[in-house]
Amino acid sequence: MMTEKAKLQEAQEQFKARFGQWPRVYRAPGRVNLIGEHTDYNEGLVMPAAIQFHVWVAATARNDHKLLAHSTIFSEIVEIDLQSQDLRPKNHWSDYVLGIAMMLEQSGHALRGANLMILGDVPIGSGLSSSAALEVASGFALLATSGMPVDRTELAKLCQRAENEVVGARVGIMDPFVSCFGCSGQALMLDCRTLQYDLLPVSSEAQLVICNTMVKHSLASGEYNTRRAECEEAVRVLSRCLPHVRALRDVTLADLAHHTGELQPSVYRRCRHVITENLRVTDAADALRKNDLPKFGRLMGESHCSLRQDYEVSCAELDLLVELAQKQPGVYGSRMTGGGFRGCTINVV
Ligand code: ADP
Ligand code: MG
Repeated sequence: MMTEKAKLQEAQEQFKARFGQWPRVYRAPGRVNLIGEHTDYNEGLVMPAAIQFHVWVAATARNDHKLLAHSTIFSEIVEIDLQSQDLRPKNHWSDYVLGIAMMLEQSGHALRGANLMILGDVPIGSGLSSSAALEVASGFALLATSGMPVDRTELAKLCQRAENEVVGARVGIMDPFVSCFGCSGQALMLDCRTLQYDLLPVSSEAQLVICNTMVKHSLASGEYNTRRAECEEAVRVLSRCLPHVRALRDVTLADLAHHTGELQPSVYRRCRHVITENLRVTDAADALRKNDLPKFGRLMGESHCSLRQDYEVSCAELDLLVELAQKQPGVYGSRMTGGGFRGCTINVV
């Protein structure tokens, strides 16, 4: 493996070879979600951690209003004219750079042009959030080359909007937030409603091991949208009797037990997952504070069962990886991570 210093130097040298200048380099990590799945859009709790895979953006300022962005992974250079009246996404990797540039400009940051070289080792499309790492690193690079300070909370919100409004993906705040605020050796518990967060120690006795199924079932995005619709439906029904309910975040298990008959059986199970998952995140934070890794691992196992049975977003490959991991000595816990039907498991070992 290349050291971080070697990667930095590689980014600078590749940039120099293409643009003839010596750049500054901005780096943002991908992430893995330890527990708290499908809770973000229900205004609940999540607990991701930054990982040691990153996107690097090497950058220098230009004297015009153009962005020249080169991605080494795609071996392609794209020109974006920030003064054009007709900036639109093209269903292309550069939409993420365009998106964050547009959101920064719309929120009052007058950007200078920039030369950008993008390098990355976050696996693409595996649920480790290469997209947020790209947006965050690009945001840092664009602000710095324009001589502006970075407000990380604001940047995370703008990255989410870039992905929602420009790229066209209905994602939550978790990915860019942890890419902005994650710290080495710590998990980050985030309240997706208030954006309050807590950094929690992950003991150096434990390693986070990510296993990639390398599969992507075609169900993934359709079922994601269906789950979101089911949660919205539950909120509509429950808020008739419980007017304080704005999101599933506000529903307790007792509320749910009271109103079971008003919900379709599958919608009831979706609610049960979200409510118990929020409770598991709180318990998992407690376990980390006490360095109780066996308890943390048990909660991960319960989270996986709930995602498989109640939320129905697992698949045979994810289940198999979890089952095999749970049999290994030295594994505290294992579960699917990310939206489901594809991607990775996270194992605390
Ligand atoms: P994930 O975030 O889980 O990796 P997404 O589909 O949300 O998957 O985002 C992946 C997309 O992000 C890629 O298809 C590409 O457009 C963009 N991307 C990620 N890393 C890079 C990179 N190094 N260079 C260019 N584009 C990248
Ligand atoms: Mg993504």
